[in-house]
Amino acid sequence: MKLIQLDGTEGGGQMLRTALSLAMITGQPFRMTNIRGRRPKPGLMRQHLTCVKAACVISDGTADGAEIGSTDLVFRAGKLRGSSYQFAIGTAGSTGLLYQTLLPALLHADGPSTLRLEGGTHNPLAPPFEFLDHVFLPALRRMGAEATISLIQSGFAPVGGGIIECQIQPCPKLIPIDLHERGELIDMRLRVPTRNLPDTIAARVLATALDQLPCEDAAVEPREPGPGRGVCCLYQANFANTAELSSSFGELNVSAERVGRRAAKALADFIGTHAAVGRHLADQLLLPMALAGGGGFTTMAPDEHVSTNIAVIGKFLPVKFQIDQADRGKRVITVA
Ligand code: AMP
Repeated sequence: MKLIQLDGTEGGGQMLRTALSLAMITGQPFRMTNIRGRRPKPGLMRQHLTCVKAACVISDGTADGAEIGSTDLVFRAGKLRGSSYQFAIGTAGSTGLLYQTLLPALLHADGPSTLRLEGGTHNPLAPPFEFLDHVFLPALRRMGAEATISLIQSGFAPVGGGIIECQIQPCPKLIPIDLHERGELIDMRLRVPTRNLPDTIAARVLATALDQLPCEDAAVEPREPGPGRGVCCLYQANFANTAELSSSFGELNVSAERVGRRAAKALADFIGTHAAVGRHLADQLLLPMALAGGGGFTTMAPDEHVSTNIAVIGKFLPVKFQIDQADRGKRVITVA
């Protein structure tokens, strides 16, 4: 079969992950050049390499160029097989992003699957576990997917050591959904997971977040004893039709106050737009909606992930995306 040619210059790991998922589902092989071309460290990092290797395992596939730092990869999938799998990233690379690569494919497998994934569960630039559990998966379940995940152990960057377990039932055809209206605000919830850091740090994160955006259900959440140390701020809003969870992560040289302010401000901005879908969920819904063959949602002004993901999906599936302006800076994204 002819190789689909993809140029990864403009995007990040998501272009590769989407291509892997779609190659496994459609059986079309691809070659991607300039992988993560403009990222500070271009090419495959451990987390991306684990996605490639895991894709080979679950689909009996082959990959050329599957090495750390490689900017050129050819991937050919075989037959997807539902089974019990275990993959360890070996760094704090995101288990959530590995999960989002394998889930769409395993929905198309011949039987149920379980996954045990080891790596980071709470790291910058990736969906934290709670985002997958409370925002991403509920949207997917509305599309007919039967999938659950559990957090076995939190893993903070840069050490990792986190574990998630996942159950996936086959669902060869997702259902189109319409997420234009978010509905009324039901409640808000602020959590500050922390491990092996002085209590005062998490308390400062919490206090600053509350100062920025008040909420009655707010708590510091010491995580189970485990490797490494870390703190993050998870600020969730549940609406009648959707949910959003904004997150920020403790880093060296970033004050606790800044961590608290970032997540709270991001959530306040989202609430102010009246969109149904937040910035991150927007780029993550494109693939499932394309697989469903339709759907639409309102969101905030999209970032580069939306355009690069649309470009990859369009190479594999005969779908059209449309992005229209709406009031208060919102966008309406329609998949048909
Ligand atoms: P890439 O930068 O191409 O590796 O893609 C990163 C993916 O992680 C995109 O789907 C982002 O929307 C998602 N992402 C990054 N940060 C967050 C966050 N704080 N919450 C949820 N998803 C995130």
